[in-house]
Amino acid sequence: MPPAPALINLPDEARLIRLLARVLQSGQLSNNGPAVRELEDRLATRLGVEHLVLTSSGTLALQVAYKALGLTGEVVTTPFTWITTASSLRWVGLRPRFADVDPDSFNLDPAKAEAAITPATSAILAVHAYGNPADIAAIEGIASRRGLRTVYDGAHAFGSLYRGRSALAWGDATALSLHATKLFHTVEGGAVILRDAEACARARLAVNNGLDTAGVPRTTGINGRLSELHAAVGLVLIDDIDAALRERRLAAEALRNRLAGRGLRLQQFNPDAVPNHSYFPALFPDQAARDRAAAALAGEGLPARAYFDTPLNRVPGIGDGSAAPVSEGLAQRMLCLPLRFGASDAERERMARIVETAVARRSPAPRSALADP
Ligand SMILES: *Cc1c(COP(=O)(O)O)cnc(C)c1O
Repeated sequence: MPPAPALINLPDEARLIRLLARVLQSGQLSNNGPAVRELEDRLATRLGVEHLVLTSSGTLALQVAYKALGLTGEVVTTPFTWITTASSLRWVGLRPRFADVDPDSFNLDPAKAEAAITPATSAILAVHAYGNPADIAAIEGIASRRGLRTVYDGAHAFGSLYRGRSALAWGDATALSLHATKLFHTVEGGAVILRDAEACARARLAVNNGLDTAGVPRTTGINGRLSELHAAVGLVLIDDIDAALRERRLAAEALRNRLAGRGLRLQQFNPDAVPNHSYFPALFPDQAARDRAAAALAGEGLPARAYFDTPLNRVPGIGDGSAAPVSEGLAQRMLCLPLRFGASDAERERMARIVETAVARRSPAPRSALADP
């Protein structure tokens, strides 16, 4: 029986077991072992970058980037993202300053980001939302004119290209998440990619409690290391990642075609980029239609996710009290449709029909006080 379609990109079982056995026999389970070093090399080569450090999560990769770049004060960022983009700033004592997103790309609007800069701003932190690269050229231009650093949250963007290079190869730093829900992953894990060697050396010390490779304490840090067992998962998946990316692209294109004319608005891709289609965000005409679709899909075993449903400017302890009307409108109406590995065309058609029904069935009109007897 073929395996049930999975939302998770599962590693080949036989190869993973062989690799895990090799790790166990080596006697080294963590502390920058051979599997971690091999995965760092293979990722750096694949992404076309020189300076890459694996970490224990994508959230930690963001925080290591902030520390390695010496950010201070405020960081201008998007509210339309996963909570850790901004909570990671607060957790290390930085203040997010939210600028709204573009309604079509769902990415940070560069003009609004520039308007949010204050004398306390040290960096711009943009997200490649759903794998669609941000307007990197505009953001880099603003940062260099205003003397700011740039950090990209590339959690969604493994396999996305910008101007012919990996979308993860831009800016002073990019953080990648290798969480199990991402296209390429190590179950839990992350990586930070840095433009320059000095920042990379600081990141390497930072994830190893401030100890250098000889074990000599040099500075303060944290335990942010990836284990050998986690790296083994990455080593198996990286061999198959081109096939997974290709399958994802074909599935997303097929679903786009099926959904045409069914009342949804889809993400507009950056014209300088090739997205990885790691998510399939669909914008419904209103929140009620979105919620109906989510419930109907769940009932059919198709787990769609209202992602992102909470604009971060509104989250206690994170938000700055500012308004972000575009993000707030998107958050109420967005649903990520499930793109399962191994899903059939019939499943996509079923999904498209459910969505169409949810859109077509109008929400009940509010009862008018005048019409009531
Ligand atoms: C997954 C994700 C992260 C965090 O990654 P973890 O590995 O779960 O810590 C950060 N930003 C975005 C946009 C994400 O989707």
